[in-house]
Amino acid sequence: MRCLSCQKLSFNIICKSCQKKYLQPSFHKREIERNFFNYSFYALSDIEDLINSKYYFFGDRVFNILAKLSFKKFAQNFIFHKQIYAIAIDDHTKHGFSHTSILTKHLKSNTIKTIPNLLQAQNRVKYAGKDLKFRQNNPRKFKLANIHDKTTILCDDLITTGATILEGKKVLEEKNNQVLFSLTLADAKI
Ligand SMILES: [Zn+2]
Repeated sequence: MRCLSCQKLSFNIICKSCQKKYLQPSFHKREIERNFFNYSFYALSDIEDLINSKYYFFGDRVFNILAKLSFKKFAQNFIFHKQIYAIAIDDHTKHGFSHTSILTKHLKSNTIKTIPNLLQAQNRVKYAGKDLKFRQNNPRKFKLANIHDKTTILCDDLITTGATILEGKKVLEEKNNQVLFSLTLADAKI
């Protein structure tokens, strides 16, 4: 196939040389609620085309590469004194894969467990380009599977206002789960 970025023939959908040149992650921390932080690896403006691949059939290959470069590396360096559950925000399957589930799966380690389909949105109105007020007026209405009294982290591809993450956090906390932080591939505000 050809590399999406440089068009050269490549074994990967993004060639190794472009991965090195353009996709080195850098860690960003954003406080979205008092003492609650989101960590991300890229500025949205740097990888927007790649994030949008989630709408296409080849998106799983792109997200697997991005996840290896970011989420997987994070998990390899993350140590915690007890078992943690990484929970994908709304990991429903669309176009044959779930991009949030691909990201979350790469966190699997001795410390971090992943279970699919724990937090599903019942309202999937499109948020892209909408402001915080619209998002607050149209909550995701998350439905949580049977998980309680656990230590968790939330995972998504993108943080914009943080409203979705905070909504997911609240639902988890109602079942006495602790949410340590959230982790997103990209941040729209850096
Ligand atoms: Zn390339």
